[in-house]
Amino acid sequence: MPTPDGFTPFTGVVAVDGPSGSGKSTVSRRLAAALHARYLDTGAMYRAVTLAVLRAEVDPSDAVGVLRVLADTKLDIGTDPAEPGINLNGEPVGREIRTERVTAAVSEVSAIPGVRSVLIAQQRELAADGGIVIEGRDITTVVAPDADVRVLLTASAAARAARRGSETGTSAAEQQRAMRRRDERDARTTSFLDAADHGVLVLDSTELGIDEVVDRLLREVHLRVYGPVRR
Ligand code: C5P
Repeated sequence: MPTPDGFTPFTGVVAVDGPSGSGKSTVSRRLAAALHARYLDTGAMYRAVTLAVLRAEVDPSDAVGVLRVLADTKLDIGTDPAEPGINLNGEPVGREIRTERVTAAVSEVSAIPGVRSVLIAQQRELAADGGIVIEGRDITTVVAPDADVRVLLTASAAARAARRGSETGTSAAEQQRAMRRRDERDARTTSFLDAADHGVLVLDSTELGIDEVVDRLLREVHLRVYGPVRR
Protein backbone atom coordinates (compact mmCIF):
# COMPACT_ATOMS: atom_id res chain seq x y z
CA MET A 1 0.00 0.00 0.00
CA PRO A 2 1.67 3.24 -1.07
CA THR A 3 0.19 5.56 1.56
CA PRO A 4 -1.75 5.06 4.78
CA ASP A 5 -5.07 5.41 2.94
CA GLY A 6 -3.84 3.58 -0.17
CA PHE A 7 -4.87 6.38 -2.51
CA THR A 8 -3.06 9.63 -1.73
CA PRO A 9 -0.13 9.75 -4.14
CA PHE A 10 3.34 10.11 -2.69
CA THR A 11 4.47 13.72 -3.15
CA GLY A 12 7.95 13.54 -1.67
CA VAL A 13 11.37 12.65 -3.07
CA VAL A 14 13.22 9.37 -2.59
CA ALA A 15 16.93 9.44 -3.50
CA VAL A 16 18.70 6.15 -4.21
CA ASP A 17 22.44 5.87 -4.88
CA GLY A 18 24.57 2.83 -5.49
CA PRO A 19 27.21 1.26 -7.67
CA SER A 20 26.40 -0.76 -10.79
CA GLY A 21 24.86 -4.14 -10.06
CA SER A 22 23.57 -3.02 -6.66
CA GLY A 23 20.02 -3.49 -7.97
CA LYS A 24 19.18 0.20 -7.65
CA SER A 25 17.43 0.51 -11.03
CA THR A 26 15.08 -2.42 -10.53
CA VAL A 27 14.42 -1.50 -6.91
CA SER A 28 13.83 2.20 -7.69
CA ARG A 29 11.40 1.43 -10.52
CA ARG A 30 9.45 -0.98 -8.37
CA LEU A 31 9.40 1.45 -5.47
CA ALA A 32 8.17 4.29 -7.72
CA ALA A 33 5.38 2.08 -9.09
CA ALA A 34 4.31 1.08 -5.56
CA LEU A 35 4.23 4.74 -4.50
CA HIS A 36 2.40 5.88 -7.68
CA ALA A 37 5.37 8.17 -8.17
CA ARG A 38 7.60 9.05 -11.11
CA TYR A 39 10.99 7.41 -11.65
CA LEU A 40 14.19 9.07 -12.86
CA ASP A 41 17.23 7.08 -14.01
CA THR A 42 20.04 9.67 -14.00
CA GLY A 43 22.58 7.14 -15.30
CA ALA A 44 20.52 6.93 -18.51
CA MET A 45 21.07 10.69 -19.00
CA TYR A 46 24.88 10.35 -18.74
CA ARG A 47 24.70 7.34 -21.04
CA ALA A 48 22.64 9.20 -23.66
CA VAL A 49 25.12 12.12 -23.72
CA THR A 50 27.92 9.56 -24.12
CA LEU A 51 26.10 7.96 -27.04
CA ALA A 52 25.76 11.38 -28.70
CA VAL A 53 29.51 11.97 -28.19
CA LEU A 54 30.44 8.60 -29.71
CA ARG A 55 28.09 9.13 -32.64
CA ALA A 56 29.67 12.53 -33.31
CA GLU A 57 33.08 10.77 -33.24
CA VAL A 58 34.31 13.11 -30.53
CA ASP A 59 36.91 11.79 -28.07
CA PRO A 60 35.13 11.37 -24.67
CA SER A 61 38.14 12.94 -22.93
CA ASP A 62 37.91 16.11 -25.08
CA ALA A 63 35.87 18.31 -22.70
CA VAL A 64 35.41 21.14 -25.19
CA GLY A 65 34.26 18.76 -27.93
CA VAL A 66 31.92 16.95 -25.52
CA LEU A 67 30.33 20.21 -24.35
CA ARG A 68 29.82 21.25 -27.96
CA VAL A 69 27.97 17.98 -28.61
CA LEU A 70 25.93 18.48 -25.43
CA ALA A 71 24.88 21.96 -26.56
CA ASP A 72 23.44 20.42 -29.76
CA THR A 73 21.73 17.57 -27.95
CA LYS A 74 18.12 17.46 -26.88
CA LEU A 75 17.47 14.90 -24.17
CA ASP A 76 13.95 13.83 -23.22
CA ILE A 77 13.74 11.38 -20.39
CA GLY A 78 10.55 9.53 -19.51
CA THR A 79 9.64 9.22 -15.83
CA ASP A 80 6.90 6.56 -16.02
CA PRO A 81 8.23 3.62 -13.98
CA ALA A 82 6.33 1.23 -16.29
CA GLU A 83 8.08 2.60 -19.38
CA PRO A 84 11.02 4.88 -18.63
CA GLY A 85 12.31 5.61 -22.16
CA ILE A 86 14.88 8.17 -23.23
CA ASN A 87 15.03 10.13 -26.49
CA LEU A 88 18.12 11.67 -28.04
CA ASN A 89 17.12 14.42 -30.47
CA GLY A 90 13.73 12.75 -30.78
CA GLU A 91 15.07 9.22 -31.34
CA PRO A 92 14.41 6.51 -28.71
CA VAL A 93 17.82 5.20 -27.55
CA GLY A 94 16.84 3.16 -24.47
CA ARG A 95 18.58 0.05 -25.79
CA GLU A 96 21.60 1.60 -27.44
CA ILE A 97 22.71 3.42 -24.28
CA ARG A 98 23.25 0.02 -22.58
CA THR A 99 25.82 -1.30 -25.09
CA GLU A 100 29.37 -2.11 -23.95
CA ARG A 101 30.69 0.73 -26.11
CA VAL A 102 28.67 3.31 -24.18
CA THR A 103 29.34 1.64 -20.80
CA ALA A 104 33.11 1.77 -21.45
CA ALA A 105 33.07 5.51 -22.26
CA VAL A 106 30.44 6.88 -19.85
CA SER A 107 32.75 7.45 -16.83
CA GLU A 108 34.96 9.73 -18.88
CA VAL A 109 32.03 11.83 -20.10
CA SER A 110 30.39 11.98 -16.66
CA ALA A 111 33.65 13.26 -15.14
CA ILE A 112 33.43 16.52 -17.14
CA PRO A 113 32.16 19.22 -14.74
CA GLY A 114 30.22 21.06 -17.50
CA VAL A 115 28.32 17.87 -18.34
CA ARG A 116 27.45 17.30 -14.69
CA SER A 117 26.21 20.84 -14.11
CA VAL A 118 23.86 20.69 -17.12
CA LEU A 119 22.44 17.27 -16.22
CA ILE A 120 22.19 18.02 -12.49
CA ALA A 121 20.17 21.17 -13.29
CA GLN A 122 17.74 19.08 -15.41
CA GLN A 123 17.49 16.46 -12.64
CA ARG A 124 16.74 19.08 -9.98
CA GLU A 125 14.06 20.57 -12.21
CA LEU A 126 12.42 17.15 -12.57
CA ALA A 127 12.66 16.60 -8.81
CA ALA A 128 11.21 19.99 -7.92
CA ASP A 129 7.58 18.89 -8.26
CA GLY A 130 8.10 15.91 -5.93
CA GLY A 131 6.37 12.55 -6.28
CA ILE A 132 9.56 10.95 -7.59
CA VAL A 133 12.15 8.26 -6.96
CA ILE A 134 15.55 9.30 -8.36
CA GLU A 135 18.46 6.93 -8.71
CA GLY A 136 22.12 7.50 -9.51
CA ARG A 137 25.40 8.12 -7.79
CA ASP A 138 25.22 11.66 -6.40
CA ILE A 139 21.50 11.94 -5.73
CA THR A 140 21.61 11.63 -1.93
CA THR A 141 24.54 14.04 -1.66
CA VAL A 142 24.31 16.58 -4.52
CA VAL A 143 21.12 16.39 -6.60
CA ALA A 144 18.60 15.97 -3.77
CA PRO A 145 20.37 16.17 -0.39
CA ASP A 146 17.05 17.29 1.16
CA ALA A 147 15.11 14.25 -0.13
CA ASP A 148 12.56 12.78 2.30
CA VAL A 149 14.27 9.39 2.14
CA ARG A 150 17.89 8.86 1.11
CA VAL A 151 19.26 5.38 0.52
CA LEU A 152 22.61 3.92 -0.45
CA LEU A 153 22.12 0.45 -1.90
CA THR A 154 25.22 -1.72 -1.79
CA ALA A 155 26.09 -5.36 -2.46
CA SER A 156 29.31 -7.37 -2.42
CA ALA A 157 31.49 -7.11 -5.53
CA ALA A 158 30.84 -10.79 -6.29
CA ALA A 159 27.04 -10.39 -6.07
CA ARG A 160 27.10 -7.26 -8.22
CA ALA A 161 29.25 -8.92 -10.89
CA ALA A 162 27.01 -12.00 -10.91
CA ARG A 163 23.89 -9.82 -11.41
CA ARG A 164 25.49 -7.80 -14.20
CA GLY A 165 26.96 -10.96 -15.78
CA SER A 166 23.57 -12.60 -15.97
CA GLU A 167 22.18 -9.41 -17.59
CA THR A 168 24.87 -9.10 -20.25
CA GLY A 169 25.86 -12.73 -20.84
CA THR A 170 29.56 -12.26 -19.99
CA SER A 171 31.37 -14.22 -17.28
CA ALA A 172 31.22 -13.02 -13.68
CA ALA A 173 35.03 -12.68 -13.51
CA GLU A 174 35.11 -10.51 -16.62
CA GLN A 175 32.22 -8.41 -15.28
CA GLN A 176 33.96 -7.97 -11.94
CA ARG A 177 37.08 -6.57 -13.65
CA ALA A 178 35.10 -4.17 -15.89
CA MET A 179 32.94 -3.07 -12.96
CA ARG A 180 35.92 -2.40 -10.73
CA ARG A 181 37.48 -0.22 -13.44
CA ARG A 182 34.26 1.77 -13.86
CA ASP A 183 33.72 2.08 -10.07
CA GLU A 184 37.25 3.39 -9.61
CA ARG A 185 36.81 5.99 -12.34
CA ASP A 186 33.36 6.99 -11.06
CA ALA A 187 34.66 7.27 -7.48
CA ARG A 188 36.95 10.10 -8.63
CA THR A 189 33.86 12.06 -9.70
CA THR A 190 31.02 11.05 -7.36
CA SER A 191 31.77 10.10 -3.79
CA PHE A 192 28.58 8.08 -3.33
CA LEU A 193 30.30 5.62 -1.04
CA ASP A 194 30.69 8.40 1.56
CA ALA A 195 26.93 8.91 1.64
CA ALA A 196 26.71 7.02 4.93
CA ASP A 197 28.64 9.82 6.59
CA HIS A 198 25.82 12.19 5.67
CA GLY A 199 22.95 10.38 7.39
CA VAL A 200 21.99 8.20 4.43
CA LEU A 201 20.39 4.80 5.10
CA VAL A 202 22.79 2.09 3.90
CA LEU A 203 21.15 -1.12 2.73
CA ASP A 204 23.28 -4.12 1.77
CA SER A 205 21.32 -6.20 -0.74
CA THR A 206 23.86 -9.05 -1.06
CA GLU A 207 21.63 -11.50 0.79
CA LEU A 208 18.28 -9.92 -0.04
CA GLY A 209 15.89 -10.49 -2.93
CA ILE A 210 14.37 -7.58 -4.86
CA ASP A 211 11.01 -7.94 -3.06
CA GLU A 212 12.67 -7.76 0.34
CA VAL A 213 14.61 -4.61 -0.59
CA VAL A 214 11.49 -2.92 -2.01
CA ASP A 215 9.48 -3.84 1.12
CA ARG A 216 12.21 -2.51 3.37
CA LEU A 217 12.28 0.80 1.47
CA LEU A 218 8.50 1.10 1.43
CA ARG A 219 8.54 0.76 5.21
CA GLU A 220 11.23 3.44 5.40
CA VAL A 221 9.14 5.82 3.26
CA HIS A 222 6.11 5.23 5.48
CA LEU A 223 8.10 5.83 8.62
CA ARG A 224 9.84 9.00 7.43
CA VAL A 225 6.92 10.54 5.58
CA TYR A 226 3.83 9.36 7.44
CA GLY A 227 5.32 8.47 10.85
CA PRO A 228 5.01 5.19 12.79
CA VAL A 229 1.91 3.10 12.04
CA ARG A 230 -0.64 3.39 14.88
CA ARG A 231 -2.63 0.27 15.69
O1 C5P B 1 23.76 3.71 -13.30
P1 C5P B 1 24.44 3.51 -14.60
O2 C5P B 1 25.39 2.34 -14.63
O3 C5P B 1 23.51 3.49 -15.78
O4 C5P B 1 25.32 4.83 -14.78
C1 C5P B 1 26.16 5.01 -15.89
C2 C5P B 1 27.26 5.99 -15.55
O5 C5P B 1 26.75 7.31 -15.45
C3 C5P B 1 28.03 5.73 -14.27
O6 C5P B 1 29.06 4.77 -14.44
C4 C5P B 1 28.59 7.11 -13.95
O7 C5P B 1 29.76 7.36 -14.70
C5 C5P B 1 27.50 8.04 -14.50
N1 C5P B 1 26.58 8.57 -13.47
C6 C5P B 1 26.97 9.68 -12.73
N2 C5P B 1 26.10 10.26 -11.85
C7 C5P B 1 24.86 9.76 -11.68
C8 C5P B 1 24.43 8.62 -12.41
C9 C5P B 1 25.34 8.04 -13.29
O8 C5P B 1 28.11 10.13 -12.87
N3 C5P B 1 24.00 10.37 -10.84
